[in-house]
Amino acid sequence: MSEHRDEARAAETAEAEQPLVEVTNLAKAFSGVEVLRDIGFAVPSGSVTVLIGPSGSGKTTVLRCLNALETGDAGTVRIGDVGVDYSAKPAKRSLARLRSQSAMVFQAHNLFPHLTVLRNITEGPIVVQGRPAEEVEAEAHRLLESVGLAGKADQHPYQLSGGQQQRVGIARALALDPQLLLFDEPTSALDPELVGEVLGVMKDLAVQGRTMVVVTHEMRFAQSVSDQVLFMDGGVIVERGEPAAVLTDPREARTRTFLQRVL
Ligand code: ADP
Repeated sequence: MSEHRDEARAAETAEAEQPLVEVTNLAKAFSGVEVLRDIGFAVPSGSVTVLIGPSGSGKTTVLRCLNALETGDAGTVRIGDVGVDYSAKPAKRSLARLRSQSAMVFQAHNLFPHLTVLRNITEGPIVVQGRPAEEVEAEAHRLLESVGLAGKADQHPYQLSGGQQQRVGIARALALDPQLLLFDEPTSALDPELVGEVLGVMKDLAVQGRTMVVVTHEMRFAQSVSDQVLFMDGGVIVERGEPAAVLTDPREARTRTFLQRVL
C-alpha cells in the first residue's frame, strides 16, 4: 500500500518538476538556408526566459516555432501536455493544439484598427475559443484594469498611445488564457518614454508567476526580471544561464561582443 503511495507521490513530484516548455533539437531552414540549428531549452513553469542576440540570429523564428506560426523542419516542442515532433510533419490539428497553448505579443501592436479596444480583446476568445460573450467581456474589463487601461474599452486603437496599444496587445494575449506568453520585441517599436509602462506590465505578469519567453533588447529587464537568458547567434544558442552570469560575466567572446554593442 505505502509503496504505491510512494510511487504515486514520486510521479506527482516528477510531474510538478517537469518544465512547462521543452524544446529539443529544433531546426529550421528557409529556402535551403539554415536559420535554426539544434535549438534546445526548457522553461520551468512560472519562470521568465529572455532570448537575446543580434538581428537575424533566429530569435523570432524560435518564438514562432514555439507556437506553430512557423513549423520547424526537425525537433520537438512541448508546452504543457501538448507536444509536436516537427520531424514527423505533424498534422494541422496537432499544430493548432500547440498554438492554443501560448499567446504572442508582437513587436508592433497589431490590433484591428476598426474594432474597439474591448472587441480587440474579446474577438479571439469568443470567435476562436467559442466562449460566452458576457463572461469574456467581464474578463476583458478586468484585464484592461490590470494593465492600467480601465475606461479605455470603447476607444479605438488610433486614440491610444503606442504604449497603451501594446498594453491592449498584452491584455488580448491574456484573454486567451494561455499557459505560456510569448513576447517578440514588445517595446522596440515604441518611443523611449513609453517603454517603461509596457515593461512594467510585463514585470507584473512575471511577479504573478506567468510563464514567459521574451525576445528583447532591454537588458535591464532581462537582468532584473528573467530567470534564464539564452544568447543566440547564427541560428544556435551560444550561451545560456542566469542573467547575472550571461549578462555580466559571459563566457563566450560572441556574447561579450554583442553585449558591448547593446549596453
Ligand atoms: P531575429 O529575430 O533574431 O532577428 P529571425 O528569426 O527574424 O531573427 O530571422 C532569422 C533568419 O531567418 C534571418 O536571416 C531572416 O532573414 C530569416 N527569415 C526569417 N523569416 C523568414 C521567412 N519567412 N522567409 C525567409 N527567411 C526568413
